[in-house]
Amino acid sequence: MPACIAACIARARTDSFRPALRGLAAAVALTAALTVAVAPGKARAADPYPSKPIALVVPFSAGGPTDVVARSLGAAMSKHLGQSVVVENKTGAGGTIAPAYVARADPDGYTLLIHHNGMATAPALYRKLSYAPLKDFEYIGQVADVPMTLLGKKDLPPNNTAELIDYVRKNEAKLNLANAGLGAVSQLCGLLFEQALQVKLNVIPFQGTAPAMTALLGGQVDLLCDQTTATLPQIAGNKVKLYGVTTPQRIRALPDAPTLQEGGLKGFEMKVWHGVYAPKGTPAPVVARLTAALQAALKDPAVVRKLDELGAEIVPPAKQTPEGLQSWLKAESDKWQPMLRKAGTFAD
Ligand code: ASP
Repeated sequence: MPACIAACIARARTDSFRPALRGLAAAVALTAALTVAVAPGKARAADPYPSKPIALVVPFSAGGPTDVVARSLGAAMSKHLGQSVVVENKTGAGGTIAPAYVARADPDGYTLLIHHNGMATAPALYRKLSYAPLKDFEYIGQVADVPMTLLGKKDLPPNNTAELIDYVRKNEAKLNLANAGLGAVSQLCGLLFEQALQVKLNVIPFQGTAPAMTALLGGQVDLLCDQTTATLPQIAGNKVKLYGVTTPQRIRALPDAPTLQEGGLKGFEMKVWHGVYAPKGTPAPVVARLTAALQAALKDPAVVRKLDELGAEIVPPAKQTPEGLQSWLKAESDKWQPMLRKAGTFAD
């Protein structure tokens, strides 16, 4: 286990009562000071919150799919909050360093997390996790769903999914499959691919999609399954080989690309969802203010255009809420965790 994870876990253990105390103190202070402002799109000068920049922590490297969504969302939220929302990339351990950091941050609305399916899968992939996704956070809302694409390096011989299946079965020992870290959705997609074909490839984890993609473009790895938010430009530039999309239906951003199911991978289905979280104990008026800013941002034409261009689909309004995120996280945890525990694939 990397030293930083051990240190984080040790620190989290000694800190285990602090989030509750900090939450209480913050709530008392804010109850006295906060002017509740939940009206979307109105950042009033008199509001004590937010009075300084807000950090939006991304668990993966800059330039990757989660980062791209975070930057677009953060810029639009800052317009509605009247304060900068600054993206911070805290990478490592398959995206578990960032939630551990945010779970221990002051619950004052100035440190937020954006994360994907990893919030539902990490408890089954990491035996030692210093945070509980269903207990240690306040939920701001869901953002957007993003399809994934299965890619090969440009000169990989197979030209379609059927040929790929055959090629992988014959060459499994020599093929390198990149991912964005153990616990990343790209790892999950790779795992589903290996399971569907009953093969074991050489899995190479990176700190995020950005470095994994660089390795694919450079030909150091053979395969990568990742979100359209990062892969569309490489596909459009003909720099990689596209085998298919992971959704059950073809997607608008890549109308000619077959689904992996069409290519012969029956039942193969994966979509990436994103949510915004705050540390447990963040006062309800602050959560409401952040949810309103998130909802306003998801109507912002710049965000709508950017996400659409990248193949992402903004979630319906009912999901852009604390309840929408919390109940979805619970459902996804119930769906994936037993499956992953059964597979016995641990990341630590
Ligand atoms: N796409 C990555 C993943 O597989 C994360 C990222 O770099 O944003 O989880």
